[in-house]
Amino acid sequence: MDAHTTLNARTDLLWIVDRWPRLQARLHGGGGNALTGMPSGSKEAPLPIDVGVSDLMREIEDQARFYAAVLLDEIPPEHGCDKRCVNGWIAVAAEATKTGRPVPPAPSSWDCPDRRDPITTSAMPALLAQVAVRFGHFTQDEREALDFCDEANDFRERVRKTLEQPAPPTYVGPCSSRGADGAGCGGELYLREGRERGTCRECGTEFTHDEQQAYISDALEERLMTPAEIVRALKIVGREVKAGTVFKWVQRGRLEEVVDGLYRLADALDLADRPRHKQVAA
Ligand SMILES: [Zn+2]
Ligand SMILES: [Zn+2]
Repeated sequence: MDAHTTLNARTDLLWIVDRWPRLQARLHGGGGNALTGMPSGSKEAPLPIDVGVSDLMREIEDQARFYAAVLLDEIPPEHGCDKRCVNGWIAVAAEATKTGRPVPPAPSSWDCPDRRDPITTSAMPALLAQVAVRFGHFTQDEREALDFCDEANDFRERVRKTLEQPAPPTYVGPCSSRGADGAGCGGELYLREGRERGTCRECGTEFTHDEQQAYISDALEERLMTPAEIVRALKIVGREVKAGTVFKWVQRGRLEEVVDGLYRLADALDLADRPRHKQVAA
């Protein structure tokens, strides 16, 4: 196999690394513009994870882990200390020689305090990127090289096909328009991948992603909710706050109860937007 062909394997794998975030967005059936966690007005279950995408991602990740384990097993680490530990040993060894004491063994790269392993992450897609740049380790043997390159190319093709399929539209909440009688439209709004605006299928009103997000925030802000509902609502308006944090606010009285077990989302938003303090023991 020539060098050009084996280099393609590296290109293919890095191509997948670049597109990993798009695969992740696809995993949840959207094009990455979801107002995450939005409660639907209809009874429909939320879109399940796309099994085809998750299987492909799992398969690529498993292979990356396998190759990473081989690299860690077969490639010794390097000194990351700019040879400081070796220079230190030279000084000690010279001193020992002068005084007739036994010379200690030279430090190997395994002992280096700044030792650099061939793989330094277990997180995708960085893991796959580190495997890709070590492609040479898998392309020395002709037979192995063929398998490695075929597989990389096969993965790339499958990722390409997956991403070429149009993403199912993403749910962005109920329609905000009201008829002359003041009744809400009741339509559910969806946006296609990469689109900023759409039209309600029920009433024909145009909307943008940003307007929808603002509408959802306003509609929810003065509402009274249970702590669990607050966790969900914060997610909708783009604040990732852990459930445990919200329950701590309640427990410590930082989030004030309005009526029996109900709290104001606006207060929670306030707390969520405050600069985070160091965790202090209760
Ligand atoms: Zn060292
Ligand atoms: Zn509508």
